[in-house]
Amino acid sequence: MRDISCKLLVIGAGPGGYVCAIRAGQLGIDTVVVEAKRPGGTCLNIGCIPSKALIHAAEEFAKVARLATGESPLGISVARPGLDLSKTMHWKDSIVGRLGSGVSGLLKKARVKVVEGWARFLDGKTVEVVTEIGRQVIRAEHVVIATGSDAVELSSLPFGGNVISSTEALALTEVPERLVVVGAGYIGLELGTAFAKMGAAVTVVEALSRILPQYDAELTRPVAKRLPELGVTVLTGAGARGLARTGDALSIEKSDGQVLTIPADKILVAVGRKPVTEGWGLEAIDLDMDGRFIRIDDRCRTSMRGLYAIGDVTGEQMLAHRASAQGEMVAEIIAGNKRAWDKVCIPAICFTDPEIVVAGLTPEEAKASGVETTTDNFPFRANGRAMTLEAEAGFIRMVARADNHLLLGIQGVGAGIAELSATFSVALEMGARLEDIAATIFAHPTLSEGILEAALKTLGHPIHL
Ligand code: FAD
Ligand code: FAD
Repeated sequence: MRDISCKLLVIGAGPGGYVCAIRAGQLGIDTVVVEAKRPGGTCLNIGCIPSKALIHAAEEFAKVARLATGESPLGISVARPGLDLSKTMHWKDSIVGRLGSGVSGLLKKARVKVVEGWARFLDGKTVEVVTEIGRQVIRAEHVVIATGSDAVELSSLPFGGNVISSTEALALTEVPERLVVVGAGYIGLELGTAFAKMGAAVTVVEALSRILPQYDAELTRPVAKRLPELGVTVLTGAGARGLARTGDALSIEKSDGQVLTIPADKILVAVGRKPVTEGWGLEAIDLDMDGRFIRIDDRCRTSMRGLYAIGDVTGEQMLAHRASAQGEMVAEIIAGNKRAWDKVCIPAICFTDPEIVVAGLTPEEAKASGVETTTDNFPFRANGRAMTLEAEAGFIRMVARADNHLLLGIQGVGAGIAELSATFSVALEMGARLEDIAATIFAHPTLSEGILEAALKTLGHPIHL
């Protein structure tokens, strides 16, 4: 095969890489993207999209199952519901398929050349790709590393058989009778909750003392309360030790030394994600690292000139929209535009029941930064729309500077709050003050009125409380 020369080579077509390539193509940059699996990366194929599809299906099923108990205060009753998970998966796959074709179409429209295969650096500007039809060498002026992340494996509980990662959990065609989830982070809880709603007996095992340890305790409380209502058993301070000899149970050790065996048909290990830094010749280019991640500056430049890195391979927060924003910025920089990372917030959402949103600084983080702050929250139980949606759990919280009321953070927990996160981000990014929110009309009746009330309450004069 003839060697390819281009201005920009992007390695990996996840939400970081494909967005970078599309924007670069739009800017007239001669761009090649190499992808070993499928365009869309983890997020589209085995992450964000399939998990949210499954969560939605599980919620729909749980709603009907609740109505079938005949105890709905809404006065609705239905006959026994059924669930054909293989059909659900087929529906989920069709969404993934549609979006995947969409990404390929967008790359084509932006005149980006896609090379299918595994890329490996020969030197800082030359990459070799093993494709189905042979070896392809690509030389580029600029290279963007967007190789993403993989599920972390526990040495005491390697993947295989009944020990699965989120990827296999998102492809199950039968609801396991007994599912044990190792790790109460967002992936474990999102999927654990979904399977519980679909009828599995779910046990979550978490080594630390509480669920969602990356989120502050106030935000996670409504989720911790809801899990037992959904029939999920949560064991905190409990470390997974390994498969029991019979292969159908997990052995765990509690912090007090007690050893327990939990029967399980499937064990979902969701103990974090690790950057993909092996197998593509990182050693050949010897980049500065930041722990396990590639070190980058505020323009996503690595320690080697002309070499950029974006997305999960560059560290926290390992989220699709951060990867995409970095990708877009890098394309602009390569096109010669003056850009640097100056985002005020990267919102993070946990699609549990109820959902959690964190945007900007939490009260503790604001305090730790040395700024004097004012903070308060407004509960959904005082919001009319929440009542009509049977969604009274949770609240919206504001964190602002005490002196000039500049918003530093907005967080919340509640059903459907993911969609409110846009307002949180816009307010923070535009430098809104509590008074700006208080001076805005929020449509009635909506959950978003909680944003107005949270600002008013932080100012000391809520109307509906
Ligand atoms: P990836 O999406 O991992 O893409 C990297 C791509 O590079 C892959 O396609 C891979 O095949 C390819 N690649 C790697 N090395 C090579 C090579 N040498 N040659 C060629 N190709 C290569 N994030 C959110 O923001 N919201 C969510 O709701 C959310 N839910 C998630 C749920 C689950 C179950 C999981 C697992 C993740 C979830 N995430 C979510 C995280 C999100 O998927 C990642 O943050 C995001 O995909 C990172 O994008 P990326 O472009 O950095 O890497
Ligand atoms: P009202 O809510 O009508 O209240 C007037 C009150 O004054 C009444 O309690 C009445 O008994 C009392 N009152 C009247 N005269 C006297 C008196 N002389 N002395 C003492 N008390 C008196 N708006 C939205 O923004 N979103 C919606 O989704 C929406 N849906 C609606 C659906 C319907 C079916 C209707 C009818 C209205 C809807 N509205 C909606 C409109 C909304 O209800 C009204 O705009 C809003 O209630 C007006 O508030 P108000 O306080 O001016 O009047």
